This record gives sequence, C-alpha cells and structure tokens, in this order.
Amino acid sequence: MFPSRFAQNILPMNIHEYQAKEILKSYGVTIQEGIVADTPDKAHEAAKELNRETGTEWYVVKAQIHAGGRGKGTVNETGSNGVVLAKGLDEVMPKAKGIIGGTLVTHQTGPSGKKVNKVLIAQDVYYPGANEPTEYYLSILMDRGTGQNIIMASTEGGMDIEQVAENTPELITKEWIDPSVGIQGFQARKVAFSLGLSGIAFKGMVKFIHSLYDAYVGTDASMFEINPVLKTSDDKILAVDAKVNLDDNAMFRHKDLAELRDLTEEDPAEVEAGEHGLSYVKLDGNVGCMVNGAGLAMATMDIIKLSGGDPANFLDVGGGANAVTVEAGFRIILKDPNVKAILINIFGGIVRCDRVANGVVEAYKNIGDINVPIIVRLQGTNAEEGAKIIENSSLKVTSAILLKDAAQKVKEVLM
Ligand code: GDP
Ligand code: MN
Repeated sequence: MFPSRFAQNILPMNIHEYQAKEILKSYGVTIQEGIVADTPDKAHEAAKELNRETGTEWYVVKAQIHAGGRGKGTVNETGSNGVVLAKGLDEVMPKAKGIIGGTLVTHQTGPSGKKVNKVLIAQDVYYPGANEPTEYYLSILMDRGTGQNIIMASTEGGMDIEQVAENTPELITKEWIDPSVGIQGFQARKVAFSLGLSGIAFKGMVKFIHSLYDAYVGTDASMFEINPVLKTSDDKILAVDAKVNLDDNAMFRHKDLAELRDLTEEDPAEVEAGEHGLSYVKLDGNVGCMVNGAGLAMATMDIIKLSGGDPANFLDVGGGANAVTVEAGFRIILKDPNVKAILINIFGGIVRCDRVANGVVEAYKNIGDINVPIIVRLQGTNAEEGAKIIENSSLKVTSAILLKDAAQKVKEVLM
C-alpha cells in the first residue's frame, strides 16, 4: 500500500492539549480543567482563577508542545520535567518558570527538543480519596484497512501505549464503528465493560465514550487519543491529557479549528511550501526532487534510491507547474544543506513541458547562485520542445526525457 501521508495527501494538523480539551469540553466530554498561560506571572493568575472556579488548591503545570511524553521529558535549561505538580499556589510561579521559555526534550521530540511557549495550569485531579485514582487509555482513529473508525481502550493507561501494544496486545480492546451508522450504545458499553468498570464509573465512561466519538466526528479528526483517562477517587471520569489530529483537508469547513494551528510548532520549510500551494515533506537524503503529482513523486523517490541516491524530500508542485511554483520549490529544496543534486520530474498532461522548461530557466536565473547540478526530465505534451529549451539555456541543467536516463544522470552527478 502507498504510504498514505504522501499519496493520499492526508496531512494531520496537530493542536495543543489545552486546545484539544476546549474542543472536548464543548462536546460534553468531562476534562481536567485548566487555564493556559505564557508567562510565570500569568501562570500564577491562572492558578488563582482556577481556584475560584474549581476550588482546587493543588495544580499541575503542563508544558504545551506538539509532542507527548512530557511527563517523563526534561527541560534542558532547568532540569524540570514537562508536567509537574504544584502543591499550593506559591509553587505555581517557580514551577512555571522552570518550563516556560525552555527546551523540552521527550522521546517524541527528538534530541533537539521543542521550545515551550505556553503552559497549561490544570487542577490536580489525583487527590487522595476513598478509592485510588485509576488511569486508562482511550483513543479513536481512522482504520484505513476496514474503512471504519476504531476505538481502542486499555486498563494500561498513563504509560507508553506503544509498549503495551508490543508486549501485551491482549490488554488493548478494539471496537470498530461503521461511520455511516455511528457508535451504538452496546459498543460504548462493551468498551467500558472491558475496562472492568461498574456503577457510576461505568455510566460515566459510557457517556464519555459517546461524547468523545461525537467530538471526533464533529471535528473531522483522524485521531483523538486520551492518555490517561482518569477515574478519580470519587468515580468521575476525566480526560487528563488529549492528543488530537485534525484532517488538514477538512479545515476549509472548520474555519474556527483551522485557527488553532500553531505554526511555531511546524517545520518552517513545510509551512513555506504550504503557503505556495506545494506539498513538501523533508527527508534525510541528498537528492532534492520536484515532481507534479503525488504518485509520480513516489515513483521518482524510488528511482532516486535505485540510482544510488537518497531522496532529500517529497515535493509535489501540483497540477499547474509554472515559473512561480518552480522557483518556490527550488528555494525550499535549496535551504536543505544536504542536497547534492536536484531531480525535476514533470509529466506534461495539462501543463505543457515547454512552459515548465521556461519556468525552470526563469526560476534558475531569478535565484542566481544555484551550485548543485539539476537534472530535468520532462515527458508528455511538448516534451521535445521542453528539452530543447533546457539544452539551449546555457545553464548548469541537464535534460532527460526518459526516466532511466534521468536516473543515470543523477548517478553520474553523485559520483
Ligand atoms: P504526557 O506525559 O505528555 O503524556 O502528559 P500527560 O498529560 O499524560 O501527563 C503525564 C502524567 O502526569 C500523567 O500520566 C499523570 O501521571 C501525571 N498527571 C497529570 N495530571 C495530573 C494531576 O492532576 N495530578 C497528578 N498528581 N498527576 C498528574
Ligand atoms: Mn499523556
């Protein structure tokens, strides 16, 4: 099967925990309440406000970044964890100081970590009581294999669910939901039952699952992951964490959700590409590629591999390749210092190859100091004219019409 992120162009749009919790709340999902803050002073004020609203006297200070594993992660500059308890109002400001502005490294951020701009000040919901609070895992995601939605639930919440899936998969319950029918009462009960719940907690979990499903469908999400879902000592069911992926392609009908996008969390080159209508995904190789159409881009990446190179990126310039899009594509590819050669592979179906060739020449001149070799393979309408334009241009550009020639030329320039 095609790697879906490239071929189907489904780009997940990530949002922060505090934003995800606001969405959940609006759909009636019970949450650990909190208020977001971007300075230690505001964190103190947020805690006071939270105390007025909920009566809580202990707080959790939670770094807001687009990555999980924050509880076990460490802030480089201060050694603080990304999720810390503040036992009283006076502890909130110093704990927030240890996180805001720092670089948080978790197993999901990679070694360079992520800068923390905001913290969520949340109520401590693990207070001791008659019963021990218990953590569960609950998620809803799209199952491409069956074309259905799938609910996954486990009693092994709070810790790395990937490890549970690997070592003890029998501890994860799966329930498939036909999207055209929606979630049925018996299905929510089955999931709640699999978690060993009874009484008030069972009822609370059933309602929680129904509301969570409503939120998932209502926002056109591709994933809602709540880890942990907490059963408090007085049997309330709460979302303590929330990781949500929205579907980028659905954002045109959710203007309010589209605004939740935080560009500071995203790869700057991918953001710039998006602004030019290009789909770009950075990879680790040395051959930049610029292609029209996702399927052809996939095939081109294979060809690069076969010729001994490694793709430096996926870049789909879309249907209307012209001087402007080609130039934007060049600039984005050239920002990557690993790039040793660029392969442009355009099929002239709707767009004519001579136009693309002129676009390449023009873009090349506009940018000026391109010192990596470029191989252009144009095929389709007016391919010969296109090749002539490239050859006559006196630029450091090599033209190829057949893909195998293009591959051979990539090989030559890499040697
Ligand atoms: P993650 O590490 O990025 O997944 O962040 P979470 O929001 O899941 O928080 C990490 C851990 O912090 C949770 O698994 C809990 O064990 C703990 N935690 C979260 N909220 C509270 C709270 O209100 N009180 C206490 N004592 N611990 C909490
Ligand atoms: Mn979590």
